[in-house]
Amino acid sequence: MLIINGKLITWDQPNQVLEGQALVIRDGLVAELGPQAELVARHPDIERLDARGQYVMPGNICAHTHFYGAYARGLAIPGPAPKDFPEILEKLWWPLDRALRMEDVRASAEVMLVDAIKHGTTTLIDHHASPNAIERSLDTIAEAVDLSGLRAVLCYEVTDRNGRDGARAGIDENVRFIRSQMANGRSRIAATFGLHASLTLTEETLEACREAVPQAVGFHIHVAEHEVDQYDSLEKTGLRVVDRLHRHGILGPHTIVAHAIHVDARESELLAESGTWVTHQPRSNMNNGVGVAQVESLMRLGVPVCLGTDGFSHTMWEEWKTAYLLHKVWNRDPRRMNGIDVVAMGVYNNAALAGQFFPGGPLGVITPGAHADLIFVDYHPHTPLTAGNVPWHIIFGFHESMVTATIVAGKVLMRNREFLTLDEEAITTRARQQAPGVWERYNAQF
Ligand SMILES: [Zn+2]
Repeated sequence: MLIINGKLITWDQPNQVLEGQALVIRDGLVAELGPQAELVARHPDIERLDARGQYVMPGNICAHTHFYGAYARGLAIPGPAPKDFPEILEKLWWPLDRALRMEDVRASAEVMLVDAIKHGTTTLIDHHASPNAIERSLDTIAEAVDLSGLRAVLCYEVTDRNGRDGARAGIDENVRFIRSQMANGRSRIAATFGLHASLTLTEETLEACREAVPQAVGFHIHVAEHEVDQYDSLEKTGLRVVDRLHRHGILGPHTIVAHAIHVDARESELLAESGTWVTHQPRSNMNNGVGVAQVESLMRLGVPVCLGTDGFSHTMWEEWKTAYLLHKVWNRDPRRMNGIDVVAMGVYNNAALAGQFFPGGPLGVITPGAHADLIFVDYHPHTPLTAGNVPWHIIFGFHESMVTATIVAGKVLMRNREFLTLDEEAITTRARQQAPGVWERYNAQF
């Protein structure tokens, strides 16, 4: 395939904005990047995709999400509104995940995948929970991802909040899926080992997870999203959360820690020393009223901080904008969270993290040899857009509704806003038909 008439935003380091250049896509990769006239002359018979003057850029990457949260939209929480994050878990997320059957797991994933394609998010790192439908839940999600054409990293959250058997089933699901993924090697799907959070994990279960995880596979866990995670860890072990995870061998360059809001200086150092990835989800943190992660400080320490949605709509530029604004108001200093910092998280760190799971070429950049995960953006600025000022055009001018085409591994998933792999209407209809049942099973727990 030859992509012509696009203005390329490459997300190279340094970034480049290229006009008059075309891309040859072959075997899922960017095979050639060069002057359009030359490439058109050299490849007269190759299929062409005309970007018609739109921006062509790498697809967005979401470093932490929960497909299973789809049925929370519009759901009424019975009784008084939850007053803090522990109550949000107890009144919203835990009864909701217990209400999911396997068909709801599938429907949740499908609506989230539609959302991702529509909004130009091409790689998603998911963290799944469905305590009453654990076994093969990751296969169910993987099948939906496979059909969608997107790229995803999957795991099941191990927790002791559903008893010993629930914890064991979670461990088994992770191990089974990781091994099957290693064996069959679907190229757009990868696996990691999920853990809920220190506050719902016993010492025995953490140890069992450490023993069960296959070599060179890391973990994906929520850390210090609220102070309660620290209180619980100190009470159980006398250690703060990050110290506790470090002692269990959970940290490291393959492990993803979501949030890290209430970590102290030594915990931040431990994250840096161990090369652990941290993900920042400012919309979720604001919604839950849990505080602001000191991600600029973490990055100054050398912690690779990424950006995720935590199950909010897969609109990564919304997350960029929220991060950009939140840290300014929190610090009462408009110089904080520079556009460059947002790009460090949302582009370069996200690409480096996701790239670990998908070898065979760099991810999140337009360069020969890179994975061909691309989006077209119908944006026509009234001021100059340059390689240097792209972050502020995105923060103040881009909207995900401007995404008109989504391509993953060289396959077009959406063209002119028309879905080519998924049937949006059928998926939405099916999900909506199942919603009353999910909400009924949710409400039955109160
Ligand atoms: Zn989360």
